[in-house]
Amino acid sequence: MILSLILKAVENIPLIEKGDDIAEIIFKNAPDIADKDIIVIASTIVSKSLGLTFLESDIIPGAEAERIAAANGKDPRFVQAILDESIEVFTETPFMLVRNKNGHVCINAGIDASNVGGDFLLTLPEKPDRYAAAIGKAIEEKSGKKISVIITDTNGRAFKEGQTNVAVGLYNIKPIRQWIGEKDLYGKVLEISEEAVVDEIAGAANLIMGEGGDGVPAVIVSGLNLYTDEPVSVTEMYREKEKDLILRGLLELKEK
Ligand code: GDP
Ligand code: MN
Ligand code: MN
Repeated sequence: MILSLILKAVENIPLIEKGDDIAEIIFKNAPDIADKDIIVIASTIVSKSLGLTFLESDIIPGAEAERIAAANGKDPRFVQAILDESIEVFTETPFMLVRNKNGHVCINAGIDASNVGGDFLLTLPEKPDRYAAAIGKAIEEKSGKKISVIITDTNGRAFKEGQTNVAVGLYNIKPIRQWIGEKDLYGKVLEISEEAVVDEIAGAANLIMGEGGDGVPAVIVSGLNLYTDEPVSVTEMYREKEKDLILRGLLELKEK
């Protein structure tokens, strides 16, 4: 049982540019990282370090992008950029809800202009688990500690106003904590409870990151007991379309 939890900003991180060594920068500013700590990292800095920036003006829209743009009023080049990052489009208007190449369902394929600089747009990393592992392993080597990593992005949600941070890439932490088979206060066996712990941690860390100019793209979470050295993937928590009533409904609407 956990009775307290500590979340700490990693301070003094510079504006990240292509080629920057995120693991080195984080470790330098968090030398006291401890065994089984979780490092939460905003996908924005991972993408910037990978150079995943582009200019809308460099995109040449195809016929499909022109068709969707005529319906939703967005720039056809922006629509093309979203299509380039997507494997499935669930809504075209008034906004584009898509599944990106990693299986993550989000608006605009996560393409974002905030905290990027200039006129540049930024896309999500294509293999976020791989980058979470690369950064995590590098920090483990430097620190000699076992750590977990959660790469995050801010997403809207169905049914509710307001956005929250969610996990988009993982290392050394399972996305879901199973409660099925455990007992409640009164001894009743739990039958469906699965806790999306990585999204909860992402949300908590975002209370420190914020969405604007605070300059805190990394947060260390201490006090949880969620470390695993088994292979993990954020895609374990992506529900199959066949089992997802809402996605199926959206596709039916689109076909009408
Ligand atoms: P996203 O949720 O991954 O899209 O990232 P956000 O744009 O919401 O930024 C999350 C946090 O990271 C905010 O505190 C930003 O100010 C901060 N941030 C983003 N890029 C950088 C950077 O290059 N350097 C620093 N120090 N902070 C950054
Ligand atoms: Mn974002
Ligand atoms: Mn954010």
